[in-house]
Amino acid sequence: MNVETVVRVEDKLFQNRYLVDAGRPHITVTPHSVPSPRLLSLTRICPAGCYAQTDSGQVEITTDGCVECGTCRVVAEPTGEITWNYPRGGFGVLFKFG
Ligand code: SF4
Repeated sequence: MNVETVVRVEDKLFQNRYLVDAGRPHITVTPHSVPSPRLLSLTRICPAGCYAQTDSGQVEITTDGCVECGTCRVVAEPTGEITWNYPRGGFGVLFKFG
């Protein structure tokens, strides 16, 4: 009998460590009053849950925990709704494999 162990993405991500570059987020959201559907989608598609909608409706990002997958970059950087750069050397995600 084949028994599969299901591991949740959240549990895998918890294994990673993240070195915060205080005051220098590598991704920023362009100021807006009402988010576009594209920008709003980031609150659902970021695998690390970095995007959230504020009580007043804007989309904000907390880059702590970003795994640098580039999904949000593909979706919203071409439209200018976010800026995206890799973290400075030594900062950002520290992947733990295995
Ligand atoms: S690069 Fe990936 S993990 Fe980082 S904020 Fe964008 S979608 Fe989330």
